[in-house]
Amino acid sequence: MLKTGSTSREKAARSNANANTSMGSAMETISKASLKVPLSNAGSKKRSDGASTSVQMKSKEVKLKNSKPTPELAEIGSEETDLSTSEGYDSSWISWFCGLRGNELLCEIDEDYIQDDFNLCGLQGLVPYYDYALDVILDNDSLSGDIDGEEHSQVESAAEQLYGLIHARYIVTSRGLNAMHEKYKKADFGCCPRVFCGGQPCLPVGTSDIPHNGSVKIYCPKCEDVYFPRCKYQSNMDGAYIGTTFPHLYLMTYPSSKPPAEVQHYVPKVFGFKLHKGTL
Ligand SMILES: [Zn+2]
Repeated sequence: MLKTGSTSREKAARSNANANTSMGSAMETISKASLKVPLSNAGSKKRSDGASTSVQMKSKEVKLKNSKPTPELAEIGSEETDLSTSEGYDSSWISWFCGLRGNELLCEIDEDYIQDDFNLCGLQGLVPYYDYALDVILDNDSLSGDIDGEEHSQVESAAEQLYGLIHARYIVTSRGLNAMHEKYKKADFGCCPRVFCGGQPCLPVGTSDIPHNGSVKIYCPKCEDVYFPRCKYQSNMDGAYIGTTFPHLYLMTYPSSKPPAEVQHYVPKVFGFKLHKGTL
């Protein structure tokens, strides 16, 4: 879901940051370009807040928006550019972040949920640069120039961590469960690698609710086991961004999503004969 309105400026700047970054050298080296950006748009909006822009520019995977190629398109690209994260020019930080490769396991949190301090209780002590991180998530322009380049990177990292921890809380609310339900129906979380599960869609799960205590896994509701995500980018995500409760509360909330309990097991055979228990 793309957000519009008051946040459009930041998003334009976010994409603009990419364009400006690559524009100088890019125009000549663009032959390898893999991305198209409307020049008219790229140059028309610029964020005056250098701090926030720097934060965005430091992203490992920079968002460039695609949508609606026009004849004026110029090819601009860089190795850091991630084409898989194409979105509209008006997306918020939340939409951008959730669209990054590896973040498919995350849903978009309603901004009003984040703006309610009650929902963030206790997180202030867990995340450095908490206030700045919150401003980044909500696309607020309050980042000031008293933050140096090193800190920009830390603020960005803190924003990602804060979003993840809020996410773990959000997805066990009715709104969050519903958002994850929509993703589950599209098999956005991947499918069970076990042959006899027949491509059963999985749910994300954390093995711990404590940050930095294990990466995210996927849970198969058919064989009721957990697996490493197939995507290596997803494997880097902290399991605390999902938590230990989500998949099970989800299946209680949406019982129709739970597949039949019968599970076919693999039977080892030699020349077509089952093996006796004491054979091996
Ligand atoms: Zn399975």
